[in-house]
Amino acid sequence: METEATEKRDIRKLKLDELKAFFVQQGDKAFRAQQVYEWLWKKSAKDFEQMTNLSLATREMLKANFVINHIHVDTMQRSSDGTIKNSVKLHDGLIVESVLIPTEKRITACVSSQVGCSLACKFCATARLKRQRNLNPDEIYDQVVAIKQQSELFFGRPLTNIVFMGMGEPLLNYNNVLAAIEKITSPQGLNMASKRITVSTVGIAKMIRKMADDEVKFNLAVSLHAAINEKRSAIMPINDVTPLEELAEALEYWYSKQKKKVTYEYVVWKGINDKPEDAQALLKFCKRVPCKVNLIEYNPIDDGEFQQASDESLLMYMDLLERNGITCRIRKSRGKDIDAACGQLANKS
Ligand code: SAH
Repeated sequence: METEATEKRDIRKLKLDELKAFFVQQGDKAFRAQQVYEWLWKKSAKDFEQMTNLSLATREMLKANFVINHIHVDTMQRSSDGTIKNSVKLHDGLIVESVLIPTEKRITACVSSQVGCSLACKFCATARLKRQRNLNPDEIYDQVVAIKQQSELFFGRPLTNIVFMGMGEPLLNYNNVLAAIEKITSPQGLNMASKRITVSTVGIAKMIRKMADDEVKFNLAVSLHAAINEKRSAIMPINDVTPLEELAEALEYWYSKQKKKVTYEYVVWKGINDKPEDAQALLKFCKRVPCKVNLIEYNPIDDGEFQQASDESLLMYMDLLERNGITCRIRKSRGKDIDAACGQLANKS
């Protein structure tokens, strides 16, 4: 079977200026582009029929030239703690997951940046799905829109925060993540504050430096999990590429430019990093750059190789860090019963 010679373009790949040029080329007014752009982003239109302030002829013309590759929430699961997990179908049939996390004060959207992941962290379920492709800016944006709507519908409250802690490594899809955030924070998009957005990375030094140079306004979190090279390399292969010293130097550079604390995500596992020497190493690492530490509860991903450390070990960490002036919080996991917690996203449904 022959494929169609001229495949329709995804209209959301066009910048506003390109859309303007298109309308002018069609013999129409440039301001039409503005109207269409508003439908596409601010109003999240899923098809051209919705664009009721355009003439039927214009809508038909757009339909003949373009498609809107909108995501589709395939299934939605609700946890007993209120957490919602969306299984999101992309235009090419691939699936990613995103999560709504409600707390008393906030509603947070946890979004994916890639289909699968290439990083192979030993404790993470997403690592078992090989990386298939990067998400486009609109696919990231749409996940946020879907959660924003659920937030209003199910909780009667606005979405307050966004974390790039779903599937994939955001800094390996940097340009698209940046473009999505640009739309999320723009008055022409969702108009959300950059300081409410956190990008979490496994710690790719080169990209952390790039973010600093780009003067991004969002927050940075690093999945640290161990501050001793041999231990970190054993659970996170990225550490062979970017060992701790190089990571620390990149973070120092980030701080020198950004003056913003870094958040370290850290899981304490039985027999892996639950000894005083591990906590001491973390403390030493924390002294390099102003930071805070989130001790995240481990979410088992079925083979029992990793086990959550005892409460005593957590308190040992907490005590040492706090005594040395480093803010440390223990983060209970959410949405565990529906595999929506950190590291559990694996397209099981
Ligand atoms: N690739 C980025 C974004 C993913 S964020 C990053 O690594 O930061 C997902 C967070 O959950 C990371 O901090 C990750 O280390 C953590 N995580 C992965 N598997 C986990 C598990 N089974 N239990 C708890 N946290 C986990």
